[in-house]
Amino acid sequence: MKLKSLLFVALLFLISYSYAQSPHKTKNVVVILIDGYRWQELFHGADFDLLNDKKYNPDDSLQRFKKFWSDNLDGRRKKLMPFTWNVIAKHGQLYGNRDLGNNVNVMNPYWFSYPGRAEILSGFVDTAINSNSYPGNPNTNVLEFINNQKGYEEKVVTFACWRATGRCLHKDKSSMLINVPWENIQGNNLSETEILANEMQHFIPQVWGDDERLDANVYALAKAYILARHPKVTYIDFGDTDEYAHAGKYEYYLNDIFNLDAMIEKLWNLMQQDKFYKNNTTFFIVPDHGRGVGPQWTDHGSGTPHSNETWFMAMGPDTKPIGEMKTKEQIFQTQYAKTIANLLGFDYNVSGKKVGEEIRNISNN
Ligand SMILES: [Zn+2]
Repeated sequence: MKLKSLLFVALLFLISYSYAQSPHKTKNVVVILIDGYRWQELFHGADFDLLNDKKYNPDDSLQRFKKFWSDNLDGRRKKLMPFTWNVIAKHGQLYGNRDLGNNVNVMNPYWFSYPGRAEILSGFVDTAINSNSYPGNPNTNVLEFINNQKGYEEKVVTFACWRATGRCLHKDKSSMLINVPWENIQGNNLSETEILANEMQHFIPQVWGDDERLDANVYALAKAYILARHPKVTYIDFGDTDEYAHAGKYEYYLNDIFNLDAMIEKLWNLMQQDKFYKNNTTFFIVPDHGRGVGPQWTDHGSGTPHSNETWFMAMGPDTKPIGEMKTKEQIFQTQYAKTIANLLGFDYNVSGKKVGEEIRNISNN
């Protein structure tokens, strides 16, 4: 063989070798769901008309303007979600700013919570799932799929604000840990933080009734479990945003998203200080549906225009730091499941179902 062709073969070998030797860096994923949080507040910050309307701000404290208002759009959204705009927008990717033509939508025809979660977790739409009181979801989901992969067995866990999330993941038939109201973290060797997180959920008023617990309790349980047991995939399911919006309390809705942004920051920083998670963990953050606009901001569902408009964001070692996506495109939330599996190097498919395509910018694939 001539030297030239030898060099050529060597080059080909090197290219294919380096391709095969560049697997994803992501070994762990945290999926965070924020129920019914609008793209409008994420990208615009507080809405002046809603913030100014006494009907939606029963406390009527001027504090809310100080905390959330700025005439400058960028300043305003940073006031509401400082970690998102100072860190995720620098090191991750944010989708769904419709002002820029970057559209994210619900694909199911219902535009509310159980069907939204089912679509996200399964990666396809099942129109039979048409109610929040729907019993056990008969379909599989990406968490179950990952939990069945080598090295991920019993390493995929859920902490949810809502009992229906358990049904959506078919908790009764699942071997995964799916912690729903008002379950404690179980075990013989619980850490002090786990014990405290367990206790606190029972000492705090049941603000939303028996079916749903507060975001702060879900956060405490998830954080305590992560610290003590190092799951590889953690699904954290939050819901106060949706409840405060339904109640027509705008300042409370904003306060909750401000707090969730801080919880995400604390969880991210904690995990980056932990050898197990440092530089190999991706956060993937989504809502389950949008909400209406103007006086319809309190509602969602197929009768409420615009409540199928959503957003999502991600940050991690495989996600290029592009920030706020400014390209015209259309993404559906059916695409998240395959993207999450893809981050871990797995190809998620369900026979007979049309699973949404992975979002290549996220998984760098
Ligand atoms: Zn919802």
